[in-house]
Amino acid sequence: SLPETEKTGNRVTVFVRVRPISKKEKEAGSRCCVRIVNPRDVYLTEFVNTNDYLRLKRIRGRHFTFDACFPDSATQQEVYSTSTSELVEGVLQGRNGTVFCYGATGAGKTYTMLGTVESPGVMVLAIKDLFRKIKTRSCDGNHAVHLSYLEVYNETVRDLISPGRSLVLREDKQVMTLLQQGNRNRTTEPTRANETSSRSHAVLQVVVEYQVRDAAMNIINSVGKLSLVDLAGSERALATDQRTLRSLEGANINRSLLALSCCINALVDGKKHIPYRNSKLTQLLKDSLGGTCSTVMIANISPSNLSSGETQNTLHWADRAKEI
Ligand code: ADP
Ligand code: MG
Repeated sequence: SLPETEKTGNRVTVFVRVRPISKKEKEAGSRCCVRIVNPRDVYLTEFVNTNDYLRLKRIRGRHFTFDACFPDSATQQEVYSTSTSELVEGVLQGRNGTVFCYGATGAGKTYTMLGTVESPGVMVLAIKDLFRKIKTRSCDGNHAVHLSYLEVYNETVRDLISPGRSLVLREDKQVMTLLQQGNRNRTTEPTRANETSSRSHAVLQVVVEYQVRDAAMNIINSVGKLSLVDLAGSERALATDQRTLRSLEGANINRSLLALSCCINALVDGKKHIPYRNSKLTQLLKDSLGGTCSTVMIANISPSNLSSGETQNTLHWADRAKEI
């Protein structure tokens, strides 16, 4: 294996975020099956139904360790600072980085990435931080910030805010409105399992170009790109009783998710050929995974025992990504 210094570029950091229990979950009499035992460890209790459904029986549990675990009380700012601020710094130095939110529909991916007007998420906080850092940088160079917000749905790429061109962003003031509008353009399809299940991946890419002249008056160009990805719900297609079209879509979503893990695995194994071409999502990210890029995964989970199957899947997946 490579010495640690050569490996650092491929490092994947993995976080878990537990969202607060919802009103609906509470009303359904759900119990909490997720406990954050310390800042890095989460404990998942698995319940089984006895013949009396009111008497859930605790059968076993499992500890998972990650780079950090965010409890339901964690603020958007805490999540941003711990997971993404370092990548924003890297982008200003001309490096590329990617943040993914992974998890079942309703687990909190869009809340984490986009958030609300009152509690903006990682996408908005990253852009605000970027502009703040650009302003405090020495002004002997020129910065240009380009933004694109794309949707991958059914292996088709669609522009969510400015079809046909990337947007040149002059300031951070309208970003929340812009992204919210874009998010409303996302394709959501009702399924039996979830009324508003999102089957699309949303990819925000922010490119920062910095041009400065060196002592000999040569132009030095640095370009860094930050990709922030709100992945489609990771629940298995099998868990929802779907018609043919839906399962086709499901297969395509899985194709992008599968292609993503294949690429990451290939990078870690030091393979020469990375199969970026296998899905639209990985094609979009081909210059943002591997090499000197930093990758961050945020696994979103519900605390309710009603979702413990999905939570278990998500944690297992995140646990594998951690091995990278
Ligand atoms: P996903 O995008 O994974 O399908 P959402 O982000 O839409 O899930 O979250 C589902 C619901 O839970 C939304 O109403 C959202 O506002 C709420 N929610 C998710 N995470 C949090 C959180 N950390 N704090 C408060 N509300 C949250
Ligand atoms: Mg969502």
